[in-house]
Amino acid sequence: MVTGGHRTRILRRLTRPPARAFYIQSPVSFYVTTPIYYVNAQPHLGHAYTTIAADVLARHMRQRGEDTFFLTGTDEHGEPVADVAEREGIPPRELADRNVVHFKEMSEKVNASADFFIRTSDPEHGAAVRGFMQGLYDNGHIYPGTYEGWYCPRCADFKNEQEIVDGNKCPIHKIELNWEKEDNYFFRLSAYQERLEALYTERPDFVMPRERYNEAVGFIRQGLEDVSCTRARLRWGVKAPWDESQVFYVWFDALLNYYTALTYARPGEDLTERYWPADFHLIGKDILKFHAVIWPAMLMAAEVEIPRHLFIHGFLLMQGEKMSKSLGNVLDPFKVIEVFGTDALRHYCMREVSFGQDGSVSTEGFEARYNTELANEYGNLANRTLAMIARYRGGVVPEVTAPDALAGDFAGLPDDVRDRFDRAELTTALEQIWSRGVRRLNRYVEEQAPWTLSKEGKDEQLDAVLYGLAEGLRVVSVLLHPYMPDTTIRLLAALGQTELSLERASFGAVPGGATVGKLPPLFPKIEATQAA
Ligand SMILES: [Zn+2]
Repeated sequence: MVTGGHRTRILRRLTRPPARAFYIQSPVSFYVTTPIYYVNAQPHLGHAYTTIAADVLARHMRQRGEDTFFLTGTDEHGEPVADVAEREGIPPRELADRNVVHFKEMSEKVNASADFFIRTSDPEHGAAVRGFMQGLYDNGHIYPGTYEGWYCPRCADFKNEQEIVDGNKCPIHKIELNWEKEDNYFFRLSAYQERLEALYTERPDFVMPRERYNEAVGFIRQGLEDVSCTRARLRWGVKAPWDESQVFYVWFDALLNYYTALTYARPGEDLTERYWPADFHLIGKDILKFHAVIWPAMLMAAEVEIPRHLFIHGFLLMQGEKMSKSLGNVLDPFKVIEVFGTDALRHYCMREVSFGQDGSVSTEGFEARYNTELANEYGNLANRTLAMIARYRGGVVPEVTAPDALAGDFAGLPDDVRDRFDRAELTTALEQIWSRGVRRLNRYVEEQAPWTLSKEGKDEQLDAVLYGLAEGLRVVSVLLHPYMPDTTIRLLAALGQTELSLERASFGAVPGGATVGKLPPLFPKIEATQAA
């Protein structure tokens, strides 16, 4: 039984100070997760969006030297998978094996640097879920009861009042539901009413942004009732160890992935001590209730530390009527990657819609940002800077002191970005890098007109300007690295630089002297006439 080992870990955990502030001097750990994606669906922009956001956070934290762990994966249990498998005459696990490939591909295509991909059908996860839940059962947090509700025979599952549509129909199958009863087991959620209220009072940043925090507090204040945590008629799931006629209700199994993954992500090593509690669970607003109410209560019952933050992002709403010639009217992430590259998609997702809010995206909007920001403002700045250093200084960055005008404008930018990342403000951080960095450098080129300085033989001034541009471009590229990992590495290499750490992101930290290389256009302009 896994319970013994599990308990030992919990006890060890309770004996160490909970707050990370005590550990400022030693390497800090950072643990970020995406939700696990339901394996029956096809990956779409929504999945790519959350995965990109988690990756941006993870890469930034690695730049800070934090010991980072990034988890993603798939949710594979439940009747929809079992049903499709049965229709095809194959075991559910085989169906999951086939479909999981699409999600792994999606993760790779968006260049997610995930440390582990969990599948809830992993036997190690199942064993850890059984151990965790057995612990709750042994300590009286789970008891037998009778569950009553609207039941869909096709889903083989109950639907709650929020899920049913058109009176009493299944939201998936649109068929009339039956009112049925079933003997199963309940988790004592009601016992955590006060502790959950206290958690939200003590930690106003537990759920971010603020409106989602308010929504979560609203759920709790309505009064909590015990929730059924097993199902008697479900077939494909993790069996309750104390009653193998039941499987765990899929949410209990799914939520635990964040915790169980650490026990087996590295063979022969338990990473729980090192990374738990999670720093950020990134989730969509549709799954707030389970994460904000049931999940912390489950952890409280097991005496496991609560994650530091849940960050709830909004939805990217497709505006079909705004259509681009190269992409048509659907912003399909795979098509965007094929035509414009991964970094262009990553930039657009983080830039267009404020992370945490709903917002509109369109193929037309994508093309506009691609052309103005990536092709013109960043790509063109890079090519001009490298070309001028080649033409005027034989390809070597002048060794002079940083020009005051730029040094002043860049002062404090890395710290500002760092603070925003601490609050998962991925869009405002990008805005700052863009307006204070990329756009400032473009204006600087126009203000200083290096071609005129060269013509007029103002060598000292030209040296300062060229160093300022190379150094500014280096700084913005280091700061932009989490958003556009490949492009920034290529650009930094052309500048003769490889260092990505945030410590070196301050303007003037790297002296001149590097030999620059050539760079093909980072973001070639796509002519509207070459429609796909
Ligand atoms: Zn149904």
